[in-house]
Amino acid sequence: MAGGRIGIMGGTFDPIHHGHLVAASEVAGLFGLDEVIFVPTGQPWQKTERAVSPAEDRYLMTVIATASNPRFSVSRVDIDRGGPTYTIDTLTDLHDQRPDADLFFITGADALAQIVTWRDNQRLFDLAHFIGVTRPGFHLADSHLPEGVVSLVEVPAMAISSTDCRDRVGRGMPVWYLVPDGVVQYIQKRSLYREVPRRPVPDV
Ligand code: ATP
Ligand code: MG
Repeated sequence: MAGGRIGIMGGTFDPIHHGHLVAASEVAGLFGLDEVIFVPTGQPWQKTERAVSPAEDRYLMTVIATASNPRFSVSRVDIDRGGPTYTIDTLTDLHDQRPDADLFFITGADALAQIVTWRDNQRLFDLAHFIGVTRPGFHLADSHLPEGVVSLVEVPAMAISSTDCRDRVGRGMPVWYLVPDGVVQYIQKRSLYREVPRRPVPDV
């Protein structure tokens, strides 16, 4: 297609890790994608039980993690829209930006299982092809999806989650090799995921 084949990888990316990157890279290879756009969410309604890191930190970590891959880029559509992110809005905005492109929405087995809870299901499938990727600990077959609307693919198994990365930082355990080196350094620099928040420097 003239507008190209574009993968879309949505996520909280708090922080982005090698599970996200491998999934995007593998799907790009399997489906001949020209580009994968990573789209960090606004304040996600699924995760209101915990404070999500500031959008700018999640955005910058995503930029750092993807910068070296010429086919990867990052979009601010969900962050700039503000409020909770709905996949229908993400896809509508990206479709408006690239009307001639073929869109492929990439999602892990756990998020795919929630697909039926997303609003405007049929419109979602009209806007993009959905690609469900394997993720250790989750079973794609359990997703109860309508027939034929989603491609299910196996990607190299990375037993990594952002929750575990945050937990590790909180316990003083390393996240080297789970997230890109630049992201390890960014987490340190911004003191993200510390169990005990550092006291603000008092005014003098
Ligand atoms: P959290 O633990 O905070 O939920 P996460 O590791 O699940 O973080 P998200 O930002 O929630 O990361 O996920 C973004 C997308 O990447 C989702 O579609 C998710 O299913 C997928 N994904 C995350 N980790 C992996 C992994 N290790 N392998 C395959 N897909 C993954
Ligand atoms: Mg998740």
